[in-house]
Amino acid sequence: MAGKLNGKVAVITGASSGIGEATAIALAAEGAKIVLAARRVEKLEALAKQITDGSGQALPIAADVTDDAQIRELVEKTQSHFGGIDILINNAGVMLVGPVEGADISDWQRMIDIDLLGLMKTTHAVLPILKAQGGGHIVNIASVAGRIPIPNYAVYNAVKFGVVAFSEALRKEVIKDKIRITVIEPGAVATELASQISNPEARQQVDAFYNSVEPLQKEDIAAAIAYAVTQPAHVSVNEILIRPSNQEM
Ligand code: NDP
Repeated sequence: MAGKLNGKVAVITGASSGIGEATAIALAAEGAKIVLAARRVEKLEALAKQITDGSGQALPIAADVTDDAQIRELVEKTQSHFGGIDILINNAGVMLVGPVEGADISDWQRMIDIDLLGLMKTTHAVLPILKAQGGGHIVNIASVAGRIPIPNYAVYNAVKFGVVAFSEALRKEVIKDKIRITVIEPGAVATELASQISNPEARQQVDAFYNSVEPLQKEDIAAAIAYAVTQPAHVSVNEILIRPSNQEM
């Protein structure tokens, strides 16, 4: 399979559905060897088969980004199977929104652990490998909610603002190591994301919002990610804010 990412190894967290799944297919189509990480291993295996049936290369690895040992194993298994890592897509996430008052604090903990700390820890585990290889690319999936505070999204806002801030500070730290950093900030994308929301009213509000726009498709975000990671070495795409055409917020 010929493509702009021939010979490159891309690790994608949250590859079992939505944006991660579509990104795996898009980067495999550019010739990258794909490591598919998430908790639902049967979904990863089905996706790996789809990629290898299309003559790509893919390795499914069960990995919960809140578990330090599983992050370590993800990196070790990737290295022993594919011999290195060139691209990390930090995509795993949940969006457990609702008003601050009366919120289930365990939802906050989960969002922080997965969307922010999980992203930071996976980055921490992969950075030394990118540096030793003389460069690489990390793509962090933030959100429009990483740019704009929205009532009932306060903690998700805090987490995604955190992802944006972490990414930009990291960009300045690792520029000397030829490691490029990209933040992707999607608006509404039609995926399973809202299905995890525990507050029924918040779930209804989110569903109503998604129904009020013509949401992006997961492939639209995958195309933006593929664009960012296929630029020539002297081009660093640092930020892509991408909304449905009729999403005002
Ligand atoms: P999905 O729910 O389809 O995908 C989320 C992915 O994250 C799944 O593959 C899930 O896999 C994985 N995941 C969840 N928890 C963990 C964990 N502890 N360890 C590893 N993987 C985990 O939603 P999206 O594709 O929409 O979401 C992807 C990213 O995009 C998220 O960061 C989200 O915040 C962001 N985003 C989404 C938008 C949207 O409108 N959909 C808008 C803006 C940003 P599994 O359950 O198998 O572990």
